[in-house]
Amino acid sequence: MPSVKQKSLEIEISPCDGGNELKLSGEINEDLIVDELVGYKAGVVKVDFENVKMINSCGVREWIKLMEALANQGSKVEYYNCPQIVVQQVNMVTGFVPEGGSVVTFYAPYFCDECENEEKVLLVTSELDGREAPERKCGECGAESEIDAMEDVYLNFIPE
Ligand SMILES: [Zn+2]
Repeated sequence: MPSVKQKSLEIEISPCDGGNELKLSGEINEDLIVDELVGYKAGVVKVDFENVKMINSCGVREWIKLMEALANQGSKVEYYNCPQIVVQQVNMVTGFVPEGGSVVTFYAPYFCDECENEEKVLLVTSELDGREAPERKCGECGAESEIDAMEDVYLNFIPE
């Protein structure tokens, strides 16, 4: 499997249905080199953010350039396994998700009042009822666990 190793970010590229999957590990910062990642991936581009540990404002700027380049070559971008730090960028930064792109799955923080258990729960955007976080049972004690964020802020990226 080809892999692009940059200073702060490693990108594993593997073919998927209709395009390619990019699995990111590391940090999205000023070291991101956009040119190494465009040109050969028209079609679907699935981006897996599971192992992204940090993202800063310079990284966001470079990332938007990459997304614009992919959108311009006609790629359809899908985001998977977005951790909280990525969801925040999706909500705050116009263009972080390119035109026509979408967030397919993402993590939300949940907290149980009963036993104070904190969990990162993977949610599927298409399964949500608008900007409403689903109820779930605490993985530790089974009591009702609630999203530990302002719902309409955290889920702001979801169309109403
Ligand atoms: Zn609990």
